[in-house]
Amino acid sequence: MTELSEQAVLDAVPDGLLIGGDWRPAGSGRTLEVADPATGAVIKTVADAGVEDGAAALDAAVAAGPAWARTPPRERGELLRRAFEAVQQHREEIALLMTLEMGKPLAESRAEVTYGAEFLRWFSEEAVRISGRYGSNGEGTGRMIVSHHPVGPCYLITPWNFPLAMATRKIAPALAAGCTSVVKPADLTPLTTLFFAQLLVDVGLPAGVVNVVTTSTAGEVSGPVIADPRLRKLSFTGSTAVGKRLLQQAAGGVLRTSMELGGNAPFLVFDDADLDVAVDAAMLAKFRNVGQACTAANRFLVHERVAGEFTERVTERVRSLPLGRGTEKGVQVGPLINAAAVGKAGALVHDAVDRGAEVVLGGQAVERPGSFYEATVVTGVRRGSDILSQEIFGPVLSISTFADEAEGVRLANDTEYGLVSYVFTSDLARGLRMIDQLETGMMGLNVGVVSNAGAPFGGVKQSGVGREGGIEGIGEYLSTKYTLTPDPYA
Ligand code: NAD
Repeated sequence: MTELSEQAVLDAVPDGLLIGGDWRPAGSGRTLEVADPATGAVIKTVADAGVEDGAAALDAAVAAGPAWARTPPRERGELLRRAFEAVQQHREEIALLMTLEMGKPLAESRAEVTYGAEFLRWFSEEAVRISGRYGSNGEGTGRMIVSHHPVGPCYLITPWNFPLAMATRKIAPALAAGCTSVVKPADLTPLTTLFFAQLLVDVGLPAGVVNVVTTSTAGEVSGPVIADPRLRKLSFTGSTAVGKRLLQQAAGGVLRTSMELGGNAPFLVFDDADLDVAVDAAMLAKFRNVGQACTAANRFLVHERVAGEFTERVTERVRSLPLGRGTEKGVQVGPLINAAAVGKAGALVHDAVDRGAEVVLGGQAVERPGSFYEATVVTGVRRGSDILSQEIFGPVLSISTFADEAEGVRLANDTEYGLVSYVFTSDLARGLRMIDQLETGMMGLNVGVVSNAGAPFGGVKQSGVGREGGIEGIGEYLSTKYTLTPDPYA
């Protein structure tokens, strides 16, 4: 593999707003800075959209809507397939870009390119499978036709932690369904989306079908877009707090909404678990993305009979994780996204210790440029500790114990979140009971990562509404129409 120049990759990223097929500066001329979290250095400035730019992007999406909705499904699918190929061709640049703007180790950025690209391939195949139903009503007096139609212009808001995959997970099903969109990436990591948008243009995206606005004033720019009666759909991935605010705004226009919000995943290790499997999975579920994933294991709940051995084995593994800039060979713990994230991880560990927990490894911010926090293990975490109720979003592994299955389930469900749970047991019947009893939209049974383009990703409770990926994913961008016509023999 040839070494890529960081500067060359950054230079290849468009620095404007994509509106109606053209790249343009913000109307105000303002720009926003993007920093490398491993050094704190500004790596690029891009356009900083204002309200008028958001409105122009929506105008473009609305104007392009009817023609895109009428574009044959096969053509829509083929555009996505070409986008998939383009991402493969540029996988090293995209991976490096993600590491530069977000900080995750390069190997993980490469894995995200694979994962993110899969949504393009999956939905290229789904575009041609939009179907309906035809049948008689029960009385035999009429024929019922059920058909599916693009919902219309969409507003797609993405977070900073998976810069490619969170974008493709929304853009691909919208395109497949025949919807046009305005995409608003996180201001901390807009570069990957801008690069990807250029790839879409390169493979033949018609003007206005996908528009991109980068902005440092997300609330100001988004409010009028969401309030515009021409918008039909809001899809958001981010924190539960912002999601709730957006749901309130979306109520004004009774918008279709998809909300992929925060998580507080329990990681249950029963005393009959294969600890080799559980420890391997714990490393993935906790340290992937430097702990900054909605699906990250947040609460390790371990049966008291195996807690000692599990803690010892997992701590040994955590001790050997190399920390550094994500571009360095072998690094497994990169920086957190910013200083605030380091502060939050530190505060959660302090609170847990104040309430009786013990730090067995790490527990400090790292003295070096950028925003680093040590890979950390905390045990004996007591009920009522903030670390059990809040998303850690950092490399901190927090362990508590339980005495029996009923207590394990009760502790696992003791949260307003319900995104994903992880269960480790060798007893199939127990695993099946957990599917019934754990209040989460997804579950890993003896595995530590569940994400897959073919699966319906999403949560229950305050982790969100709607599903992304799988055969369910395209349905979020389709509305259902029922038509009745008299019985043709009457
Ligand atoms: P965030 O809620 O702060 O921001 C998410 C996006 O919303 C960003 O683009 C941001 O600019 C934008 N935003 C913020 N305020 C807004 C407003 N008032 N109006 C419109 N847009 C606004 O979240 P984050 O810090 O970027 O991401 C981390 C969060 O995302 C975590 O809570 C994590 O669990 C969640 N997340 C969930 C999933 C999932 O699929 N469930 C996936 C990844 C991340």
